[in-house]
Amino acid sequence: MTAVPGRLRLTVLGCSTALPAPDAAAAGFLVEHDDTAILLDVGQGVANRLGRVADARELAGVFIGHMHADHFLDLAGLRYLFPWAGRGSSRLPVHLPPGGTSRLDELASAISERAGFFDDAYAVDEYDPGATFTVGQLKLRFAPGRHYVPAWGVSVETPDGARLVYTGDTGPSQSMVEFARGADLLLVEATLNDASEDDVERGHLTAPEAIDLARDAQVGSALLVHYPPDRRPELDRLCAAAGPWIRPAVPELSLTIGREIESGPGAALSPAATP
Ligand SMILES: [Zn+2]
Ligand SMILES: [Zn+2]
Repeated sequence: MTAVPGRLRLTVLGCSTALPAPDAAAAGFLVEHDDTAILLDVGQGVANRLGRVADARELAGVFIGHMHADHFLDLAGLRYLFPWAGRGSSRLPVHLPPGGTSRLDELASAISERAGFFDDAYAVDEYDPGATFTVGQLKLRFAPGRHYVPAWGVSVETPDGARLVYTGDTGPSQSMVEFARGADLLLVEATLNDASEDDVERGHLTAPEAIDLARDAQVGSALLVHYPPDRRPELDRLCAAAGPWIRPAVPELSLTIGREIESGPGAALSPAATP
């Protein structure tokens, strides 16, 4: 992994939905800044892919936006990388949303592991979504998504003000627009083929709604995430019509984020000339 000092680097580990797909994992994004590497979400399939680019034992933390399987289930898989009696300083910090700890305990039980299964490997806590969280030199803030269960988007900011925002799962939301406003890079979910697929109380976005959210937030650039891979050609077309500042994320895409986006391997994203 080539890192540029002082710059945020994003690697897409998974950008699919809960629907199994042969070549795509569910939600998982590796964010690196100097010696600090964090993982945003760890849905099914992400643990396997993480191993190609980073050692889970060297992560500074894992942040889970909400407790749906496609955002946290591979915490079970990652657990097996750690020693069974490894209580000590090497535990991986795992930051769950409010109420997440009991869900993780229930997961240990559901997979026939003993109580404390995760605690030997992970230093688990629940973040306060109203507070700013510091990890390394990065500042993380959270904002509620519009979803079927409590769900949080996250903003990751460097000391020089470069900012990545990830919506997590959300329906159309003006507060998410405000949270994302001016981000250098926005990861915006684009789950639905059509809004009629959603509940009356919305919990996901269509691709046009995702593009509108990114445009309204006047972000520098954006990647559509959390979409079924077979819809990528359609999303490519929609993004091409919107401009070169937005495109669908693809697995293993890696980008350096600064005040502008640099092209990386497989990256053809360029910042918006005008918001
Ligand atoms: Zn969800
Ligand atoms: Zn999801």
